Amino acid sequence: MQVHDHVNTLWPRCDSVKTEGDQLILRVSRGRCYDLVDSYRMSPHRQLIGLRSASELLGFVRAFGPLFFSEPGVRTEKLSHYWSFQQSLKAFVFLLSAMRGGELAEVRKAVTEYIKATEAEAVIEIRGLRGSGRHARFPRVGRVFGAKAICDLIAQSEDSRVGQIAIGFVENSFTAELGFRVTASARKFHIAAQPRLLGLAEALRWMVWQDVHDERPLSFCPECGSLIKVLDARFRKFCSPEHAHRSAARDWRRRDSERKPRLKRSNQKEGRP
Ligand SMILES: [Zn+2]
Repeated sequence: MQVHDHVNTLWPRCDSVKTEGDQLILRVSRGRCYDLVDSYRMSPHRQLIGLRSASELLGFVRAFGPLFFSEPGVRTEKLSHYWSFQQSLKAFVFLLSAMRGGELAEVRKAVTEYIKATEAEAVIEIRGLRGSGRHARFPRVGRVFGAKAICDLIAQSEDSRVGQIAIGFVENSFTAELGFRVTASARKFHIAAQPRLLGLAEALRWMVWQDVHDERPLSFCPECGSLIKVLDARFRKFCSPEHAHRSAARDWRRRDSERKPRLKRSNQKEGRP
């Protein structure tokens, strides 16, 4: 039997972060760490998806540390890698949201965006997808590599096949190792089930999984496309009362303009002006 050290999922914050062109210069903290699993309460995955400017991104990195490497000290990374990661996480969540909505045209759009956002990893297994008719020129067993080839395949495929491709992407997207964490107090041990996370990037993907597990779907405002921040999205369709109001007002105007010609017609019938 081996004796292991305590397993933890601590991750460093950054003491300072700045940009120079496409370079992100981070001073990774030695002492200021937080627990990746516990940070789920603060929804850093939702925070990252909602970032819109470089200054917001710097604030995020200062608070939650580097995405991939945790060695303390000064590091230079590429700013574009951070935005690419954000895009791929956002595109994945968008794909889940489109699949939940069930509109096949939306699923097609979302899966295409997802492939573009995860270009480097884009490989699909064709095995198990039934080719027929005009799709027969794609191999029935094999792989398609590269974002462009896969987007071409999708553009030429019928909806049901695009649905199968989307299912394949989602089912093969994320896996994590599971474990226990045990903390001891003076009187008892507390045992928790938790994932083993290799770093912040993996933790953010796990949080999307955890949202699905807890049935807290991430969804986007139909007015402006921004992520809806309230965790229980069953009760919120819009990002803000303003956008809910704007959409309701537009619906009302539409119904009103549909009603007016009808009213006019019925008034004419009854001889009213
Ligand atoms: Zn909105």
